[in-house]
Amino acid sequence: MEQLEKKLNALPNSAGVYIFKDRAGEVIYIGKAKNLKSRVRAYFNETDSRPLLQFLKPKIKDIAFMLTDTEKEALILENHLIKKYQPKYNIRLRDDKTYFHLKLSLTEKFPRLVLTRRPQKSQELIFGPFASAKKVKESINLLQNIFPLRRCTTRNFQSRERACINYEIGKCSAPCAGKISPADYQKIVEQVIRFLKGEGKDLIKELEKEMYLASEKLEFEKSAKIRDQIQAIKQSLERQKVEVNLPLDRDVIGYYREADRVGIYRLGYRQGILLIGQAYFFKKVQMEDGELLGSFLKQFYGEQGFIPKEILLPFAVEDQDLIQDWLRERAKFKIELIIPERGEKRAQVELANINAQKNLEVSEEKEKIKRDALEEFKRIFRLKKIPAWIECYDISNLGEKLAVGAMVKFVNGEPEKAGYRRYRIKGVDSQNDYEMMKEVLTRRFQRALLENQPLPDLIILDGGKGQLNIARKVLQELQIKDMELISLAKESWQDKFLSKKPERVYLSGVKDPITLKPSPAKHLIMRIRDEAHRFAISYHRKLRKKLSNQSLLLKIPGIGEKKKRALLKHFGSLKRVQTATLEELKSLPLLSERDAEKLFNFFQIQKSNPA
Ligand code: SF4
Repeated sequence: MEQLEKKLNALPNSAGVYIFKDRAGEVIYIGKAKNLKSRVRAYFNETDSRPLLQFLKPKIKDIAFMLTDTEKEALILENHLIKKYQPKYNIRLRDDKTYFHLKLSLTEKFPRLVLTRRPQKSQELIFGPFASAKKVKESINLLQNIFPLRRCTTRNFQSRERACINYEIGKCSAPCAGKISPADYQKIVEQVIRFLKGEGKDLIKELEKEMYLASEKLEFEKSAKIRDQIQAIKQSLERQKVEVNLPLDRDVIGYYREADRVGIYRLGYRQGILLIGQAYFFKKVQMEDGELLGSFLKQFYGEQGFIPKEILLPFAVEDQDLIQDWLRERAKFKIELIIPERGEKRAQVELANINAQKNLEVSEEKEKIKRDALEEFKRIFRLKKIPAWIECYDISNLGEKLAVGAMVKFVNGEPEKAGYRRYRIKGVDSQNDYEMMKEVLTRRFQRALLENQPLPDLIILDGGKGQLNIARKVLQELQIKDMELISLAKESWQDKFLSKKPERVYLSGVKDPITLKPSPAKHLIMRIRDEAHRFAISYHRKLRKKLSNQSLLLKIPGIGEKKKRALLKHFGSLKRVQTATLEELKSLPLLSERDAEKLFNFFQIQKSNPA
């Protein structure tokens, strides 16, 4: 709670989205707020009695946030993030809340503009999301006044033979009554698409040409109609009444520096809507700002599959023209790096800058909390140095023959998943936990020595004194001297019930274990142990599932252990065996024709009766 309190204090008093995470770093709840600090604080206020809070509150271990310009922007971003992360405690919100979109129904012969709540991924043209249905309806009205698309529903359209009043007043081209050819109607549809894609000015130029041509041909009525249309488009562009005329993809980069620490923040607008916010931090920076940001752009967009058409920057970066050309080559379309000085684009850069600043401040607070926890770790567990690199080992056998070991790696108090390792226990048959731990540690450190790899500062073992002694022996045999060891013994359910033995830590060379009291060090060691446990169990389950799938082959008459292994070796997986053709099976020398038929028929029957 003390750590959360510090994070709560660091939250800004601005609009944005907040993200609650649990001990494992999983996103468990996402919300939006006009004032982040007071909204988030309200969750920890005893007066808030919403039923959800009694489940949610104890699980909140970390808070992240993203600032937005307005509450409305936060609302749309919140919805997007909920759909992306599907947090456990947002389930109802996730199901109930969907935003509005404008759709041009391109799959119909005579498309029309409609408001939709649930856009399907199809060939329809979709714009949005929008927070209000009213805005979408206003935009549709305006567009229909400029472009005479049909206004009636598809059902109404199909049953009509005569045009309605909309045709009489010049608001519809009346495809229902054959007053316009499909080709001419298509031309109107293309004009609408261009207008919606923000090409209104080019469209005006083309219509002006058409208007002069019509008047040259003395088609004055047609010319007047085009004139009115041009007028309506101009008015709409000037007043920016149609909200959907800029479906542009844009990244906005914010930058904040404090001495040698830098925060960079990327806001991602997709089709004009803010959907992405990502923070990056750099410490001990020696470079100039322009050089650092240039290098960031090269590295970040060098790894991205998608590059937006516009990237707004807070200032000029080194090699800016070169980077722009390189991005154009990569994306195969025109990409612009822009340094806006005023207007809406500058405001977006300022927003990204503030996000960079606030996130850097909070990350420093987090860093401090982690540093404090590691320092306390050193003190409580009587270590020689702060354990920057910790490895934790766990064994999972669940009372069966199949047993696995798992190692998780934490660097500076954070998991480094690329360093995780898992082990299938090979040399121990019985349920001897100590021997299994010995096998895992021996395999891990023998290899490390052989490959001259650096070693961790501290090893944590899931278990008691026995595990600790085994580990000490392994290290002695391998002549590893500087690595420190501790083990964490679980509180069993009986212990909990009888208040006998809480979580305790055994130190190397110390007789009695330490009982853990609530502290950042306890929080960290339990987090590491739980992660090792989770990793071991998930590997164990995966293996069990694989083996039980494979034993399916043994149910087929004529297939024994030898043939099963040979089949899996030949096809590489059970799935491939299941989908093999009869010819493929018959061509295998290890199977008789009859075996092949039995095998093939078995999976055919299984396919038709999956239950
Ligand atoms: S004129 Fe025909 S197509 Fe247009 S809105 Fe009326 S019924 Fe629909």
